[in-house]
Amino acid sequence: MNLSKLFLVLSLLLILNFSFGQETKKYLQGEYNKEVTGQVYTSPHQHKVDQIQAIAHPNAEIRNVILLIGDGMGLAQVFAGFSANNDELYIQYANQTGFQKTKSKNKYKTDSAAAGTALACGTKTNNGAIGVDSDGNLVPSILEIASENGKATGVVVTCAITHATPAAFVAHTGSRKNTADIAKFFVSDKIDVFIGGGLDDFSQRADNDDLIPELQEKGFQVVTKTEELHTINDGKLAALLKPGHLEKYPERGDILPQSTAKAIDILSKDKDGFFLMVEGSQIDWAGHDMDFTYLVEEMLDFDRAVGAALKFAEKDGHTLVIITADHETGGLSIHDANLAEGSVEGRFSTDNHSTIMVPVFAYGPGAELFTGIYENTAIFQKMMESFKFAKEKK
Ligand code: MG
Ligand code: ZN
Repeated sequence: MNLSKLFLVLSLLLILNFSFGQETKKYLQGEYNKEVTGQVYTSPHQHKVDQIQAIAHPNAEIRNVILLIGDGMGLAQVFAGFSANNDELYIQYANQTGFQKTKSKNKYKTDSAAAGTALACGTKTNNGAIGVDSDGNLVPSILEIASENGKATGVVVTCAITHATPAAFVAHTGSRKNTADIAKFFVSDKIDVFIGGGLDDFSQRADNDDLIPELQEKGFQVVTKTEELHTINDGKLAALLKPGHLEKYPERGDILPQSTAKAIDILSKDKDGFFLMVEGSQIDWAGHDMDFTYLVEEMLDFDRAVGAALKFAEKDGHTLVIITADHETGGLSIHDANLAEGSVEGRFSTDNHSTIMVPVFAYGPGAELFTGIYENTAIFQKMMESFKFAKEKK
């Protein structure tokens, strides 16, 4: 009895020792599990990255702020872009870097409405809420405050203009789903230029209201075709280029970088300066689809919009450019690349948002304010500080 028990214990120890030994050996020899396979992207749409010089006067007055949001753009999304584009992106010239934490008021995993409200208004709110706090009180956005301070304002996106991220800068409603209500907030004196999709929320509404004549009464030039966009060089502009969202890249063409340049061109005519929000809206959707090719294409297109912003800021010297995300989507990781070929391998771990911190990149006067680790609401505070706007009295 005792002998067979002893034998049992000894053989168990031997087995354990053997398997631990094997594990240790595998670890020491660098042999890792390779059975999880990813998706390989090979880039047909690389872009040349022109060098952007650091601005000569980092303490210059900040007249303009351009905030570029890659929806769902975590560090892996940015790095996938680098790997697919000869190891360089325009983003690299925004070299004052930080991280922001994205949790919402009621969920550790934020959605784009709560995260958009945090960035736009500096308030943590519940998932789904647009420009209101968790008690439903209206919270003003940086875009509205900039407008009240005499600045020109604009929003450029590749989704419907009524979608969560742009809505957070313009509208105030308890639910992101109220896109027909959100559209009415764009009929406003507080916004000068908006470019994106979402025409159906303005002119094919369930309540039969047509907001197009209302926009025109407010002084907007309303365009629904990309070609018309090129003919407008100043004044108020409402470009609603699709009934719903714009197409994916490359189907939609270079509309995002072109619209970014167009908005900057128009808004910069205001001597008081401007605030512009640009969104790479579909990086998030590629993550939800777990479609790595879609993701890298959207990431590279977003970087070309960043390039348009940086080129203006480089010349202007009074423009702060901030590039960040609202949250990460897809739990993406990068596993291999061939930089010469522009091929890169990525793997998703979820078709939902993840909760990890997202990067912040800043360029221009005041850029160093964005280094460090902070909550997403701090982006709003830092923009307020950059513009030297008085804090809201509560
Ligand atoms: Mg969005
Ligand atoms: Zn999403």
